[in-house]
Amino acid sequence: MNVSDSEVVARLLSDNGYRKCEHLEDARIIFVNTCSIRENAEKRVMGRLDLFARMKKKDPGLKVGVLGCMATRLREQLLAHPAVDWVVGPDSYRHLPGMLGSSVAAPMEVKLSLTETYADIKPFRGVNHGISAFVTIMRGCNNMCAYCIVPYVRGRERSRDPFSIIEEIRDLLSGGFREVTLLGQNVNSYCWTPDSDRDSCGFEPDQDDKTDHRTPENGQVPVTFAQLLERVAGISPMLRVRYTTSHPKDMQDDVLHAMAGHPNICKHIHLPVQSGSNNMLKKMNRRYTREEYLERIAAIRRILPGCTISSDMISGFCSETEEDHAQTLSLMEEVRFDQAYMFHYSQRPNTLAARHYKDDVPEDVKIRRLNEIIALQNRLSLASNWADVGKVFEVLVEGASKRSNDWFFGRTGTNKVCVFPKADSKVGESVHVRVTSCTAATLKGEIVNENQ
Ligand code: SF4
Repeated sequence: MNVSDSEVVARLLSDNGYRKCEHLEDARIIFVNTCSIRENAEKRVMGRLDLFARMKKKDPGLKVGVLGCMATRLREQLLAHPAVDWVVGPDSYRHLPGMLGSSVAAPMEVKLSLTETYADIKPFRGVNHGISAFVTIMRGCNNMCAYCIVPYVRGRERSRDPFSIIEEIRDLLSGGFREVTLLGQNVNSYCWTPDSDRDSCGFEPDQDDKTDHRTPENGQVPVTFAQLLERVAGISPMLRVRYTTSHPKDMQDDVLHAMAGHPNICKHIHLPVQSGSNNMLKKMNRRYTREEYLERIAAIRRILPGCTISSDMISGFCSETEEDHAQTLSLMEEVRFDQAYMFHYSQRPNTLAARHYKDDVPEDVKIRRLNEIIALQNRLSLASNWADVGKVFEVLVEGASKRSNDWFFGRTGTNKVCVFPKADSKVGESVHVRVTSCTAATLKGEIVNENQ
């Protein structure tokens, strides 16, 4: 999300005469786009700001702005840091050009919006862009999971006008992009109606143009995520479509059927479970049970055979017992996730958990449980990758592999990273790769003829 937001900021600034530079040392203004989701992320930003403060001592003309979630959370506290000149929250980026150009403008804008989606801003993706782009389809979140700071720092959920999404993706395709990832904190609750963002996106129909651009062609209002997904997939069979993130309580079969009906929608779903214990899920305010989660997994297996599934897991949430932890391990075994993002719980200020629960699982226990989760997931990921050895996958070539300049890397539709000798292939092409071996993280293979 921050990559995508930074591209919006880069557009706003480049349209106002600023130029992006490649090296920190060349910059006259530095922006740090920040994340508050874990304590560690914030600590790293503070370390960066200390570095910028030292740079400013040698070069007093240098300016620094803090953007993103930490701006909303820490406000004046950030402004008091010797490095910081501006503090700008995720819904206030339109103020940036004015703030930079004026010595009288307030140095802080952190108000959250009920309507801002930056729908009319064409993100700046640079000159040497890649072939895969993030496209934000909604902002904020209404879910209030007990451990999560997102609703407090990114505001209420709002869906972006589908016309601007389609237009942006068409532009990306004609600019050489071959893959888009539709982004939202909870894409399953995407829901756009003609009035939902009239005030924010700046769209004003031409007076002589009698077409109602805000009524979807098929007459269906509101537009749901499944409908949006189908429209995006229908833009071109040349375009691969991914999305993230799904919420298990909101992921309905219509999305699965949309995926099944379009070969160019990648067969991978990120469905964060967080815990396998009903006690923990209730305390986390996730609003589904272990049984309901497993039912959603069964629906994915039924409607989308071969679809890979990844997840998020948190170890050591408030009052988690050994039995709760064992339930997480057993759920992982049952689902056999292909990939996962795993963390130990870190309390975030002002969240439901911080206000109502004790962070009472000792640090060493959190870490030991996390290590058990990671060890299990490594075994599951390796088994999932071994099951692909001998199979042929369509892989979108994304760039040179880190292992060797003679090799490329790309991803399968099932979201697995694959490395292979370049042969005659080019970045941006889709090639067929037979998997010959693997690690838990990567498939290794060779390009084969489509019919081999
Ligand atoms: S769904 Fe829950 S975890 Fe995800 S962003 Fe919203 S509140 Fe946070």
